[in-house]
Amino acid sequence: MKKQVAVIGGGAAGLTAAIWAARSGASVTVLEHTDRVGKKILSTGNGRCNLTNAKMEASCYRSGDPQFPMAVISQFGWKDTLRWFASMGLLCHNRMETYYYPLSDQASAVLDCLRMECARLGVTIRTNFSPEKIRRVREGKRAFYQISGGGETVQADAVILACGSKAAPNTGSDGSGYDLAKALGHRIIKPLPALVQLRCQGNHYRQLTGIRTDADLRLLVNDQELWRERGELQITDYGISGIPVFQLSRFAARGLDEGKKVRVLIDFLPAMDVKESRIFLEERFREFGHRNGEDFLTGVLHKKLAIVLLKMAGIRLDQPVSAASRRQQEHLLRAIKEYEALVSSVNPFANAQVCCGGVDVHQVDSATMESKVAPDIYFAGEILDVDGICGGYNLQWAWSSGKVAGCRAAQRRRQE
Ligand SMILES: Cc1cc2nc3c(=O)[nH]c(=O)nc-3n(C[C@H](O)[C@H](O)[C@H](O)COP(=O)(O)OP(=O)(O)OC[C@H]3O[C@@H](n4cnc5c(N)ncnc54)[C@H](O)[C@@H]3O)c2cc1C
Repeated sequence: MKKQVAVIGGGAAGLTAAIWAARSGASVTVLEHTDRVGKKILSTGNGRCNLTNAKMEASCYRSGDPQFPMAVISQFGWKDTLRWFASMGLLCHNRMETYYYPLSDQASAVLDCLRMECARLGVTIRTNFSPEKIRRVREGKRAFYQISGGGETVQADAVILACGSKAAPNTGSDGSGYDLAKALGHRIIKPLPALVQLRCQGNHYRQLTGIRTDADLRLLVNDQELWRERGELQITDYGISGIPVFQLSRFAARGLDEGKKVRVLIDFLPAMDVKESRIFLEERFREFGHRNGEDFLTGVLHKKLAIVLLKMAGIRLDQPVSAASRRQQEHLLRAIKEYEALVSSVNPFANAQVCCGGVDVHQVDSATMESKVAPDIYFAGEILDVDGICGGYNLQWAWSSGKVAGCRAAQRRRQE
C-alpha cells in the first residue's frame, strides 16, 4: 500500500512538498483552508515572482539556528530549483545577474506549473478544509494521524505542516498553522512582521513623502549597529520604505518587541565618505555661498529633502548661505550624513512580505525536516523560524524545505 501523506497548506512550500512526496511514490492530499491554492505566489515579485537567486549564502537567512537554513538549502539549491521548474515546463531568466524570474515574467505561470504537476501526479487537493485537530492514532502495529476539521477526517501516515506564517494574511496565511504545531508539542518563537516598512517619529515625513533616493542605512538597536544596507530609500508620510528598509526591518521588529530603542541612521550622500562630504560641502559653501539656502543644494539632493535638512541645521532658506555659521555648516553635514530616523513601530502583518519567528528549528531535523518531538510530522516553508532577505530567498526556502520534507515524508521507515 502507498504511504499516505497529508500536506496542510497549499502555498509554495506545500505544493512543492506534495509534488516531491508524490514523485517519491506516496499518495498525497493537500488540505488548504482557503478556496484556492498558491494565492501568495501570485503577488510575489510584483506579480513577476523572483523565485530564486544565484547568490545563495548563509548571511541571506536568519534563524534561531544560523546553520539550519543552509543545511536544508544545500540539499536542494538554486540550480536544482531551476532544473526542477524546467522539468515542469517553466523556463527562467535572470536580472541583475543573480535574480531569477520566470521567462514569461508571470508569477501565475509558476503557480500554473505547480498545479499542473500536482494534477499529473494525482495529488488530491482539498480546498476549504480547515484542520482543527491532528491526532495520532495507534491501531496494532500501525500508527497514523487523523486530521479533523468541519466534521470531516483525513487519515495520513505522515503530515507536512506548510501553513506559512502571519504575513499577508489576505493570502491565507493567518497564523493558524502555529496553533496546529503548538498542539503537537512545538515551541513557537513569537512571529513578527519582516520585510516591511518602518514607522518613524517626527513630522518631516509628511513633507518628504514620495521621495526616492539612493541612501546608506545603518540600523542601531540600543546603540548597537545590527545591519547596514545601501539602496533606494523611499520616504512615506509615516516613515521609511524600500528594499534597504525591508532588509533591516526584521531586526527593528525584534528590537522594538523587546522594548529597545531602534534608530536608522541615514546617509543621503552615500557616494562620499564623511571626510569627502565635508570637503565637498566646504567647497560648495565657497563656490555657491551667494545662493539662498533654498537653492544651495539644488542638483545634489532632492529639493524637498534639501530644504528639510537645511532647516534642521538652522540655515535660513531666504538668505545667502554665506551667512551660515561654522556650526550650522557642521550641523548640515551631520543631517546629510547621519539623519536619524527614530523608529516607533513596524507596519502590521498585512504589509509584511514574511515573518521572523515561527516553529523553533531546534525541534526539527534539518536533514529530513521531520519534527524531533512528534514522529511523522514534517515542516516546510515559512511556518518555521527561518526568514530570508529580499531577492528570491524566501521562495528558495519554500522550494528547498518543501522538497526535503516531501521526499522524506514519503519514505517508508525500515520497520514498516
Ligand atoms: C507581496 C509579497 C511579495 C513577495 N515576493 C517574493 C519574491 O519575489 N521572492 C521571494 O522569494 N519571496 C517573496 N515573498 C515571500 C514568499 O511569498 C513566501 O515566503 C512564501 O510564499 C512562503 O511560502 P509558504 O508555502 O511557506 O507559505 P504561504 O505561501 O503563505 O502558503 C501557506 C498556505 O497555507 C494555507 N494555510 C495556512 N494555514 C492553514 C491551515 N491552518 N490549514 C490549511 N491551510 C492553511 C494558506 O492559505 C496558504 O495557502 C513575497 C511575499 C509577499 C507577501
